[in-house]
Amino acid sequence: MSRVRAAIVMAIGIALIIFMIMTDSGDLLLILGRVQASAMITQIHQPPPGRFRESDYDVTYDFVDDAGVHHIAKDLVPPAFPPGQVGGFVEIAYSRHYPSVSRIASQVSSTPIGGVLMGLIFMMMGISMLFRASRRDLENFNTKTSGEPQFAPAVANGSRTMKCPKCAAGAITFGNWVRGLNAFFYTCPHCGTNLRAGVATLCGFASALLSIPILIWAARFLSQRTEWPEVRWFIIFLVAVTGSISYATWRIGSYVVRSEDKKSG
Ligand SMILES: [Zn+2]
Repeated sequence: MSRVRAAIVMAIGIALIIFMIMTDSGDLLLILGRVQASAMITQIHQPPPGRFRESDYDVTYDFVDDAGVHHIAKDLVPPAFPPGQVGGFVEIAYSRHYPSVSRIASQVSSTPIGGVLMGLIFMMMGISMLFRASRRDLENFNTKTSGEPQFAPAVANGSRTMKCPKCAAGAITFGNWVRGLNAFFYTCPHCGTNLRAGVATLCGFASALLSIPILIWAARFLSQRTEWPEVRWFIIFLVAVTGSISYATWRIGSYVVRSEDKKSG
């Protein structure tokens, strides 16, 4: 069970980081380096009463960056910070690396970087929980397999890490598991039983598939706000998310005996 808990803690960390990047990418980019400038307010709009954040000012402003490039940008300002008049000036901060990303200076927040750090702490906690669990497994490891390749967290009483359901030996390493169709169909190297993916593996595979449209959406969202193309964000997300899901699935997943085997034996 400690593996499931570790996976949940890691998932919370990853979700927190992704959420912070998606909702506050502007603030995160400004942390990496920003330039203060003066912008001219070209439009102030307040949503009609009854709308979400109805008293916020939706401020559109114009500014020219150090390279002489003209930008038009928008920011939301809560009622506590009256933005001034159309035609007036407001202090803004724009990203040194991506000048198209800017915010009204009074609204720049360091909360998102705190959220990302908290997410990283959660991820590290999850990883150390996994390490503790596998060290326990190694302590319980019964070294009767002479000459056989040693599978790191192989036999653990009560652990289900990709054990062969017939001989209870650790069936497969992570590196081998992700290759080809081994995750779905495999033959136990210890007893030769034909195995197929258990429910946990299928759930992991399904969640990796279901995450893809969300990743595409997140990549599109970020590419419109940064200068990185959509495909680069998508590859980063894909590697990070499917990599973590695969590893977690290998840790908590299981094989079952293939049914034709059950009939014959
Ligand atoms: Zn076996």
